[in-house]
Order: sequence, then C-alpha cells, then structure tokens
Amino acid sequence: MKINNLTDYRPAVGRRQTCKVCKCPDKFDFNVPDEIWRKVVPQENQSEVVCLECFDAFASEKQIHYSDSIAVLYFAGDKATFKFQTVSAHDL
Ligand SMILES: [Zn+2]
Repeated sequence: MKINNLTDYRPAVGRRQTCKVCKCPDKFDFNVPDEIWRKVVPQENQSEVVCLECFDAFASEKQIHYSDSIAVLYFAGDKATFKFQTVSAHDL
C-alpha cells in the first residue's frame, strides 16, 4: 500500500489490508514517490492497495528501476509493528 503522509503513519491494530491485485493480506506497507507509483502501477490500481510483491512484479514487467525509491518499510503484524529502514538496495 502507498502511504501519503509518513509522519502521521500509525499502523492500525488489527487492520487487514488486502492487496487488490493478488488478493493476499498485505502486512508490509511502503511508500514510493508519486511519480514512480504512477509509472509502475496500472492506472486502474493506482488508488488501491498494492502489495510490495505486486508492485515489484509491475516494475519488473515495465523494467522500471525503483530500488532507490523505498527508504522505509512498515510491517503491521498481529503482535508487533515495525518500521524498517533500507540498509542497501539494488536494481536487478
Ligand atoms: Zn499483491
């Protein structure tokens, strides 16, 4: 899913996001610049929840490099939440 306002981001307890592309529960939230989001995600999915796996698949299809576009990753689990920071990233 795409987070528009990082500073206000608080994972909601028990929230169940579902990726609208693969229909899987999406527990990892990430944020990318609008420009990259619009390039990678098909127009019909741009306002919906798209998980990182599907985002990556779209980027791969379109050969769009985005490894420098994700700086933090959020995990909203049932028992704990995390904010991960990118240590290293590579385009393949
Ligand atoms: Zn998905």
